[in-house]
Parts: sequence; structure tokens; C-alpha cells
Amino acid sequence: MSKFDIVSIFPGMVKAPLAEGVVGRAIGRGLLDVSVHDLREFTTDRHRVVDDMPFGGGPGMVMKPEPFFAAVDHIRRERGMPDAIVLTSPDGDRFAHRDAVRLSGLGHVVLLCGRYEGVDERVREHLATEAMSIGDYVLSGGELAALVMLDAIARLVPGVVGDDESVKLDSFAGGLLDYPQYTRPAVFQGLEVPAVLLSGHHAEIARWRRREALARTRARRPEMLESAALGADDRELLREIEGGG
Ligand code: SAH
Repeated sequence: MSKFDIVSIFPGMVKAPLAEGVVGRAIGRGLLDVSVHDLREFTTDRHRVVDDMPFGGGPGMVMKPEPFFAAVDHIRRERGMPDAIVLTSPDGDRFAHRDAVRLSGLGHVVLLCGRYEGVDERVREHLATEAMSIGDYVLSGGELAALVMLDAIARLVPGVVGDDESVKLDSFAGGLLDYPQYTRPAVFQGLEVPAVLLSGHHAEIARWRRREALARTRARRPEMLESAALGADDRELLREIEGGG
């Protein structure tokens, strides 16, 4: 079982999406153990203050270190030693498929959510084992980032997605973008599905899909082709695509 702990001042915001969909079902089936912690529970003052003014001045408020350290102490005691403590942060390493693979291979991951101007740097330096960003934009809090990462990690845990084969075929997993998908009806408002998909020829369908995956990766994300594990058949398909065939 994969264990996750999320620390946030808005636990309700984190819990709601965990109730539905693939992740919700996996929690229900006992494949994932997700615990959400209210950061304010780890304050010691009457007003349960989690933020304070920045040293050196400047706008906004900074999240205090003590509640994060206390929350992680609690997690260590009650839930066991985590393998990774991830601080969500726009200046962290860019979260990508390889990180989802790496983190899904660990037993226990903690995700820390910041708010306001961010979190006292001592949390990053002395509590977190890494800092992760989900993209080059600033969110108002780490909750959505933590949920994005949890979702991507969780679907790689064996059994979480019903068909493990489908996970291997997804974009990025095989080093390529996914091939285009179609379903019924075969003709919709005069728009036809590629004929090969209706042909019943499994080898031809597989070849067409591989070619489409290669073609769209080449067009949209050419740098991915450099690190993809390509076979001789793939190189031939690529030559065909490059030749405009
Ligand atoms: N002043 C900070 C932004 C703080 S945003 C800066 O300019 O870098 C408040 C919190 O939202 C952050 O502490 C972090 O937890 C979260 N957050 C914002 N954008 C994020 C992103 N792209 N990826 C991950 N977390 C993010």
C-alpha cells in the first residue's frame, strides 16, 4: 500500500477531490492510504496563527516554520517515517512523469502546501527532502499542486488504474505522446473515424497507432524523441513521416 500525508491550512479543499474518481476508488479499496492534516492543529497559540510578517519587510505574509515541523513530527510518530517530504513551491524542480514514477515507487510521501507569500525557507532547507513545482505559474496555494502530484503518482501504483496496460500506453509513460483515440459513432456530423480502426486488422491498427504517436510527438514535443527508446520499426516509421508519406 502507498501512504500519503498532505499538510494544509485548507484540509477540506484537499479532501473533496479525494472522494471521487480513480483516486477515491483506490482509497476505498485500500490501495492508497491518504491522510490530510490541518496545519492549524499544530499551532500552540490561542489564535492558531500559521503566518507572520516577513523579516526584512516587504509585502504579504510568510508561513511560520514551527507548525510544519510539528505536523511532520506528528506524521513520523503516528504514520511512520516518510520516504520523501515534498514542499510545493513554484521555484522547485518541475514535476514530470519521471518524478511520478520515482515517488510511486516509495512507500510513504508527505506533501506540504504553502499559502500567502510562501513558506519560511527553513522548512525547505531542513524539513523537506525536495521542493516541486507543477509549472511556471503561481497558484494561490500548494493544495492543487499537491493534488495534481498525488493523482499522477497514484495512478502509477499497481492496481489503482483498473487496466495496468493502459497506464503503460499513456502519454509520457512510453516516452511518446499517446495516439489519437476514437469511439462510436463511426461517422459524426459527416466526420469519419480513420478507416484502419474499423478494419479489424490488429497489426495494421497497432502500426497506425505507433505511427500517429511518433508523428504527433515529433510535431508537438520533438525533444521527447531524443530520449525515447525507439526500435528499428520506429525509425522506419519516422523516416516515412519525415518524407511526408
Ligand atoms: N511568493 C512565491 C509564491 C507563493 S504562492 C513565489 O513567488 O515563488 C503560495 C504557495 O502556493 C507556495 O508556497 C506553494 O506552496 C504554492 N504554489 C504556488 N505556485 C505553485 C506551483 N507552480 N507549483 C507548486 N506549488 C505552487
